[in-house]
Amino acid sequence: MEWRGKIGLAIGVGMMVVAAGLVLASVQNGTKKASDGIAIAGEARQGGLTVALPDAVAGVRVRKARLPGRPIVVIDPGHGGKDPGATGVSGSTQEKDLTLAMARELADLLEERGRVRVALTREGDRYLTLEQRAGIARRLQAGLFLSLHMDSAPNPLAKGATVYSLSDVASSEEAARFARAENAVDGALSSEENDSVRALLADVALREQMEDSAGLAERLLRRAAGRVELRPRPHQFAAFHVLRRTETPAVLIEAGYISNADDEAMLQTREGRAPLVLALAQAVEADVATRGQR
Ligand SMILES: [Zn+2]
Repeated sequence: MEWRGKIGLAIGVGMMVVAAGLVLASVQNGTKKASDGIAIAGEARQGGLTVALPDAVAGVRVRKARLPGRPIVVIDPGHGGKDPGATGVSGSTQEKDLTLAMARELADLLEERGRVRVALTREGDRYLTLEQRAGIARRLQAGLFLSLHMDSAPNPLAKGATVYSLSDVASSEEAARFARAENAVDGALSSEENDSVRALLADVALREQMEDSAGLAERLLRRAAGRVELRPRPHQFAAFHVLRRTETPAVLIEAGYISNADDEAMLQTREGRAPLVLALAQAVEADVATRGQR
C-alpha cells in the first residue's frame, strides 16, 4: 500500500499548499472568487496524481537487451527495509542483503549477455509489500518473475537450494508452512488466501501460469544439477501470493540455508553465489527462447 499512501500524501500536501495559498490570496485580495479556488484545487489533485503514479514504476530501472522488444525478466530480491528476512547462523548476515547482492549479480549477468531486458523490484534496502512486487511485474508485463530468498531452519544441518513454483496444493507440509510464512508478510493479502485461490482454480490463465512456472523450475534445476547443492526434493509447490499475482511464469528460489554454517559462508561471497546465478541466467534465457517459439 506504500505507493497509494504516497498518492494520498501527495494529494494531502497539495491540498494543504492550495489551502494555504487561498488563505494568503484571500488576505491579499478580498475579491478573489471561489471558482478560482476550485480550479487550483483541481490542478493540485491532478498534479499530485501525475507525479505520484509513475513514481511507483519510475523507481524501477529496466536494463536494455541487445535487441529491442526482448521480454522483461523481473528479479525480486526477497525482503528489504524493515523486513530483514532470516538471520544467518553467524548472526552477522541478513537475508535481505544477500538476496539483493544475488539479484544484482544475476541482473548484471543477464544484461551483459543481452538476451533479455531485466528489472529489479528493489535496487536498495527498501521495504516492498508482496503486492507491490507482483504489481511491478504486471505493470511491466514481465515475461518471467524470479523471487530470490535464503532459507532458515531449526535443524542446523539442513542445507541446499529449493525452487518453489506456484500451485493451489502444497507439495509438502513444509512447503505449505513456508508459503504461509512468506504470505504472512502481507497481512492484507493472507486473509483472502483460501477464497481467492479456490476461485481462481477454474481460471485457465492461472493453470497455464502454474504449468509454465513448473516448467521454469524444472529447467532451472536441470541447469543447477551438479553445480549447485540442491535439497533432496528440490522442486516444491505452494500457494505463494507473490507468484500468483505476477500473472506471468514465476518461481521462488531458496538459494540455501543461512541457518547452516556452510551454506551461509557460500552465500556470503560472490564466488559462492556464482554457480547458482549462472544456472538462473541460463534457465531464464532458455525458457524465454522456448516460449517465444510457441
Ligand atoms: Zn525469504
